[in-house]
Amino acid sequence: MNFIKEPEKKIPIIDEVDLVVVGGSCTGVFAAVRAARLGLRVAVVEKQNCFGGVATAGTVNIWHSLHDTVGERQIIGGLTQEILDRLTTRNAVLASPEPSSAFHLNTEELKIELDELVMEHEIKPYLHSFYVAPVLKEQKLDAIIIENKNGRGAIRAEQFVDATGDADLALDLQLPTFVPETLQPPTTCAKISGLNALGGFNWEQAISEHGAEFGLVPDWGWGGSIPGLPAIQFRAHTHVFGCDTSDANQLSYAEIEGRRQVRAITDLIRKYGPTDAEIVLVDLAATIGARETKRIAAGYRLTGDDVLHGRRFEDAIANGSYRVDIHHTDSPGITFRYLNGTEDVLPGSGLPSIHKRWRDPIDTDPTFYQIPWRCLLQDHIPNLVLAGRMLDADKIAFSAARVMVNMNQTGEAAGVACAIAVKQNLPIQRVDPAGIRETLAKGGSIII
Ligand SMILES: Cc1cc2nc3c(=O)[nH]c(=O)nc-3n(C[C@H](O)[C@H](O)[C@H](O)COP(=O)(O)OP(=O)(O)OC[C@H]3O[C@@H](n4cnc5c(N)ncnc54)[C@H](O)[C@@H]3O)c2cc1C
Repeated sequence: MNFIKEPEKKIPIIDEVDLVVVGGSCTGVFAAVRAARLGLRVAVVEKQNCFGGVATAGTVNIWHSLHDTVGERQIIGGLTQEILDRLTTRNAVLASPEPSSAFHLNTEELKIELDELVMEHEIKPYLHSFYVAPVLKEQKLDAIIIENKNGRGAIRAEQFVDATGDADLALDLQLPTFVPETLQPPTTCAKISGLNALGGFNWEQAISEHGAEFGLVPDWGWGGSIPGLPAIQFRAHTHVFGCDTSDANQLSYAEIEGRRQVRAITDLIRKYGPTDAEIVLVDLAATIGARETKRIAAGYRLTGDDVLHGRRFEDAIANGSYRVDIHHTDSPGITFRYLNGTEDVLPGSGLPSIHKRWRDPIDTDPTFYQIPWRCLLQDHIPNLVLAGRMLDADKIAFSAARVMVNMNQTGEAAGVACAIAVKQNLPIQRVDPAGIRETLAKGGSIII
C-alpha cells in the first residue's frame, strides 16, 4: 500500500466536560443522561443526524419485554421504562401481548423524545459528528478528536464511554478484541405500505420459488406494525450475507446491496403477491442495521450457559428475558432457544418450523438472565467504559443479550460508573460494582 503524510496541524479544544459518550444510540444517550443526573457535565457524539442508533436511523421499532419470561416479574426499568412512558403519552407505542415483540415504537417520535431528553439534561449534543481519534496522556485518555462541518476538534474529559457498536474508540486504543467465527448478517430495514393486502402470503416460500429472478437468495425475515399507521409495516426481510459492516469497503457494498434487496422484494411481491396489493416503499433506513461485528475481550465473557441457565451475578447491572436468537449465517432461517429448555428452528424457504427440546426438563426453569458489570470493563485504560453490543459475550449469549432493552441498561450502568469514578477520583476499574448497582437502583433501574 502507498502512503501520503497528513500535514501536522493544531486541533482546537472545542469542549471540556466530565464525560464524553461516543455513539448516541439509546445506549449512549442513556449513559449520558444517567451521568448528567448525577451531576456530570456531559457531551455525546453521534455521526447520524439523530440519536437512537438502530432504533431510529435503522428504523428497527421493536423493544422486547421488560418482564421475565413468564410475565410475572418486571426485570427492566430505568430509562427504558421512562422512554416508553413518554412515548405512550404521544400514542407512539403499541403494546403487544407477545413478549418477543412487546413494544412497537414510532421511531420518528423516538428521535424527538431522545432530543428532548438530551436537552433537558443540558447534555452537549454533537450530531453529524464523527469520532475519529483518541488522544492519550500518560496511559490515560485525555481527549477524543471529532470531525464535523467545523472541521476537526478535540473534546477533553475525565471519563469516556465507547457506545459506537463497532467499538471504534476501543479499537483505536488497541484493546484486545475478538471476532466470532461467523457474524450475524446485517439487514436494511424499510417501511412499506400495502402489505396488509397480502393476507397469509408466505414470504419465505415466495422468495424461495421466485427470488432468483430478482437476485434474492432464500432468506428469512420478519416485520411489525407501527403505532397509528395501520397501512404501513416495518420490515426486516433480507440479509446481506458474508459481510463485516465494520469494514468501510464492505459497509459501502452492504448499504447498496441492502437497498437493492428491499427493492427486489417489493418487485417480487408486486409480481407474485395478491393482485390487489398496491405496494409502496415508504421509507428506507438511513443506515443498514449491523447485528454483530468485533467485540472487546473484557473482564468476563458472558456464556450461552450463563444466559440459558439464568445465572445470577453479584455484579449484575442488567437483566434480560429475550430468547437466544441466532440468524443462520450458512443457510436461510433462524434458531430461537428459550430458557424453558425448548427451541424453535425456522428453516426459512417456507418450510415448517421444528419445535424441540435443547435440554431435558428440570423442576424450575430460569425466567431471566443477567449481564455482569465485568462484561463492559476493560483493564487497559483507567477512564474508559464500554457499552452496547461490543460487550464481552460468546456467540450464544450475544444473540440474546444484544437486544435494545438489554443494551439500554449497559448504557445506564456505564454512565453511573463514570459518575462514581469522577466523584471518587478513581480509575474505572476500582469503582465498586456494589456502588454501581446501588446507584442504578436509586435512579430507577431494577437491580436484582
Ligand atoms: C436489522 C436489525 C434488527 C434488529 N431487531 C431488533 C429488534 O427487533 N429488537 C431489539 O431490541 N434489537 C434488535 N436488533 C439488535 C439491536 O438493535 C442492536 O443490537 C442494538 O441496537 C445495539 O445497540 P448499540 O447501542 O450497541 O449499537 P447501535 O444501535 O448501532 O448504536 C451505535 C451508535 O453509535 C454511532 N456511531 C458509530 N460509530 C460512530 C463514530 N465513529 N462516531 C460517532 N458516532 C458513531 C452510530 O451512528 C449509532 O448511533 C436488531 C439489529 C439489527 C441490525
